[in-house]
Amino acid sequence: MIIDGKKLSEQILSKVKQEVIEIKKKGKTPALSVILIGDYPPSEIYVKNKEKIAKKVGINSKIIRYEKNVKQSEVINKIKELNKNSEISGILVQLPLPKHFNKEEIINSILPSKDVDGFHPVNVGGLASGYDSIVPCTPLGCLLILKSLNEDLNGKHAVIIGRSNLNGKPMAQLLLKENCTVTILHSKTKNLKAECIRADILIAAVGVKEIVKGDWIKKNAIVIDVGINKVNGKLFGDVDFENSKKNAKAITPVPGGVGPMTIACLLKNTIKCFKKSNIF
Ligand code: NAP
Repeated sequence: MIIDGKKLSEQILSKVKQEVIEIKKKGKTPALSVILIGDYPPSEIYVKNKEKIAKKVGINSKIIRYEKNVKQSEVINKIKELNKNSEISGILVQLPLPKHFNKEEIINSILPSKDVDGFHPVNVGGLASGYDSIVPCTPLGCLLILKSLNEDLNGKHAVIIGRSNLNGKPMAQLLLKENCTVTILHSKTKNLKAECIRADILIAAVGVKEIVKGDWIKKNAIVIDVGINKVNGKLFGDVDFENSKKNAKAITPVPGGVGPMTIACLLKNTIKCFKKSNIF
């Protein structure tokens, strides 16, 4: 089975849209502020896409742009202003930041209840402690993909390649919460194939084109490919899709798998943030 991330994301967005309609009936509108620093072309595309889809579901979205040489203090002052603004439900600072920025300081200045990306230590700690916190959008999207398959996740062996704060680590926390037995692999792992081949659920979040080969996939495994690797203008995942789909019970393609789920989860998180600051 080829998992249709686009279709699944549309179902989530349609629920978000319905929630926005209900919120608007009570005279309020959820709003997302996106801070974009510099002129990195992929970030420009991501941010515009987020804004377009936010508007489609009725969420107010505003991009706040800064030149790449802007001072860190100026951006932090803006974040503090947005933290206090009751009209703003969520704040997102588009990564990566220019080199002179201290990423931690920027992320830590966002109010945890408005941290739509789930990167603030309060949300990271909340997820690790099993609380109902804001979860980073991509791993949340991967979990929703898994849940859409109606599989019993209890006791499944989940293998995650990658241990970033953005993907691998929160993914591991989410799957632990689902009672999976979790193994995390990274660049110092001795034998990737030997670990991958034991996976009932394999999640690749590496950033290396087709690092996962077809013969690394256990029969009937579920394969979720987070990777986005652009080579000669074409997109590739971290998984060799053509040779892996034979063994996999279900697999996400790139593009059209995890990507659309990430944006849908961002807007789902915006509604969650809205509800954290408004009693409805
Ligand atoms: P990252 O911060 O660079 O982390 C990559 C992880 O992969 C690290 O933990 C690294 O190990 C590990 N790794 C690198 N080379 C490896 C190798 N040869 N063998 C085993 N492990 C290796 O990347 P990220 O931000 O998590 O993103 C990963 C991929 O997901 C990228 O392609 C990115 O574009 C994509 N992505 C997609 C979405 C989406 O919506 N689909 C969203 C975000 C990111 P060490 O920790 O040891 O260095």
